[in-house]
Amino acid sequence: MATADERTGIPYQRDGMNAARAEFYRGPNMVIPPKHLMASTSDHIPKLSDMNQHQEEVSSEEDNSPINTPMPNPPTVTSDDFALAFDIDGVLIKGGQPIPEAVDAMKYINGENPYGVKVPYIFLTNGGGKTEKERCLDLSRQLDLDVDPGQFICGHTPMRDMAERYHTVLVVGGEGEKCRIVAEGYGFKDVITPGDIIKTRHDTTPFRTLTDEEYESSRLLDLDKIRIEAVFVFADSRDWAGDQQIILDCLMTEDGWLNTRSKTFNQGPPVFFSHTDVVWSTSHEHSRLGMGALRASLEAVYQALTGKKLNTMAFGKPQIGTYQFATRLLQEWRKESCGIDRSPSTVYFIGDTPESDIRGTNEFNEITDNDWFSILVKTGVYQDGATPRYKPRMTCNTVFDAVKFAIEREHRKNSKGELGSD
Ligand SMILES: [Mg+2]
Repeated sequence: MATADERTGIPYQRDGMNAARAEFYRGPNMVIPPKHLMASTSDHIPKLSDMNQHQEEVSSEEDNSPINTPMPNPPTVTSDDFALAFDIDGVLIKGGQPIPEAVDAMKYINGENPYGVKVPYIFLTNGGGKTEKERCLDLSRQLDLDVDPGQFICGHTPMRDMAERYHTVLVVGGEGEKCRIVAEGYGFKDVITPGDIIKTRHDTTPFRTLTDEEYESSRLLDLDKIRIEAVFVFADSRDWAGDQQIILDCLMTEDGWLNTRSKTFNQGPPVFFSHTDVVWSTSHEHSRLGMGALRASLEAVYQALTGKKLNTMAFGKPQIGTYQFATRLLQEWRKESCGIDRSPSTVYFIGDTPESDIRGTNEFNEITDNDWFSILVKTGVYQDGATPRYKPRMTCNTVFDAVKFAIEREHRKNSKGELGSD
């Protein structure tokens, strides 16, 4: 007897699910990602082939075959054949508040769906400025579910691997001391902030004075003895002018020694950004400037000052290294939380920014063994009616529509015996 789920409207039969269930949720394919996590400035210049590329679009419009096997209250089974990865800002959260459909979407993938399936998932955000643990607590509260640091990557998470390479580093961005705490938690031994430099030389930034709290927490330095080996922009700067001045001062040193000035302007330390998003989605009706805008500004000012081109490096989406990091995290998370010791054949990535979420997912999909399927939602940076610069394989109104699409698509693949093909 056919009926329909009240909330989702998905038609289903009262029996017939169990026979296909084991087949439905199985999966092959192991991915061993190479370990390179960064990209230089030149990697961010959009290629014409990217912009014109027409990715496969598998839409529910193209395939409207009936979904005919879900049960009304089936026992919950965890999918081992597919997984989900979520961007956060503009997909689940906006202006610090959950997007209305986000809570239902998370319930849906945690078993409250007519198929009785729970789908493993991770979060992959370019945001940052707090420890992963702290950010997971925020997300747990906002989405009314438990989020574990083992399923969470933010923009600066891959920078952890750089702690072995650099000892004394300048860490920029975020509120107060938070990013210093994050960097020290990653294992960086000597973490200097712009506040330390301003406290030591107050005329470093003529128009910025530290608050009492900032002054208290900042450290006095012996500038003659400090050699900055690398600059890391962990989170959005709260003071572009002051932070840019200090980064530029470092870049114009001889080999990072703070009290020196290069004559050739090609001896400065490397600069790493935790992502390259020029804008991001907040509660404001128009997207706001993000770290990528600071990066563009810094590169332009450096060239204006020195006549030299500045090549900075970046983590985060759309860097392939970040997706490789995510692949490892997902594999570990599936093993730890569900006992699944293999890669999913399909990972649905749900994001709101074509230039990072969709571009990164599509480009990673070209080099990885499993299928990374890009889904663009309309609740964030991307606005309905615009032509996305990087074309998603599916566009949905909200994250709830996106997760529903993913689960239905997997079910349809199984029903038609088309595992791994479209
Ligand atoms: Mg976003």
